[in-house]
Amino acid sequence: MPSVCSLRLSESRANRLRPRLERFAARAPSRLRVGFDPVQFPRRYARGEDAEVAGLLAASLAYGRVDGFVPKVEHLLSRMGRHPGAYVRGLDVPGARTLLQGFVYRFNLATDVAVLLLGAGRLLRERGSLEPWVAEPLARGEDLHAALTQFSRALRDVPLQPLADALGPARGLQHLLPVPLGPGAAKRLNMFLRWMVRGPDEVDLGLWKTIPASALVIPLDTHIARISRRLGLTRRKDLSWRTALEITRNLARIDAADPVRFDFPLCHHGMSGVCAPRARAEACAGCELRSVCRVGARLLAGAQTARRH
Ligand code: SF4
Repeated sequence: MPSVCSLRLSESRANRLRPRLERFAARAPSRLRVGFDPVQFPRRYARGEDAEVAGLLAASLAYGRVDGFVPKVEHLLSRMGRHPGAYVRGLDVPGARTLLQGFVYRFNLATDVAVLLLGAGRLLRERGSLEPWVAEPLARGEDLHAALTQFSRALRDVPLQPLADALGPARGLQHLLPVPLGPGAAKRLNMFLRWMVRGPDEVDLGLWKTIPASALVIPLDTHIARISRRLGLTRRKDLSWRTALEITRNLARIDAADPVRFDFPLCHHGMSGVCAPRARAEACAGCELRSVCRVGARLLAGAQTARRH
């Protein structure tokens, strides 16, 4: 994937943004928001391989409404017992049939999820962790886009026909585990990686020590895209890998070692409805970012002018 960065934050803009973003992140109610986020699932497990499997499953199904996918993940994990790592390492086609028969979540059917779980089980059996499957391509000099494609391909390397015979045809495998990754932002894979690599802190787990946080790309969704435009981190309107890369590189001018540490508080600023698609002066008046936000600054100036007249 070519590295294109059309908007580069100036040093003075980065210096202006840094203290505001840091104060915003420090004061954000992140601990309280974990329960509204799929990161709640891997955070339940003490063992690394259990958190990896719970995280991969939760991140992969984390699309659509939170109240749509959370019960699906909850149900599957409850049936996988206390150790989902050991569960998938021992999983076979009859076991997948017992676990997943009748499973449907939007684009995905039982066979899609069975491929993911059987694939994760195989990777765990071979290397004891999912980490080397991403870390080793990066260590060989591949970029993150290529490394994630290889990870996704390795997960999908599962014989499909026996699963189709047991559970019916696959439907949304390319959506669940894209190969190739394509031009999209790969939000769910980048989110899984953020959980595994960053931290540990009140949100992320910091389990994977061989990948530096500086190698991460922001998990780009509509909230991050909207707020990033408002803060001048991008002008791009699409949810592409290039946009994710541009935002990440501009955040790296604020914190080079850990650019995606702002992802969770910014995303939940949008998800919680405070920073809504249609900005509201009342919300902006109490926002830590108002002095560096183009939309907030304009709205508050307009409200002030209206009050004078
Ligand atoms: S000032 Fe308003 S529009 Fe800007 S980030 Fe804050 S809440 Fe969102």
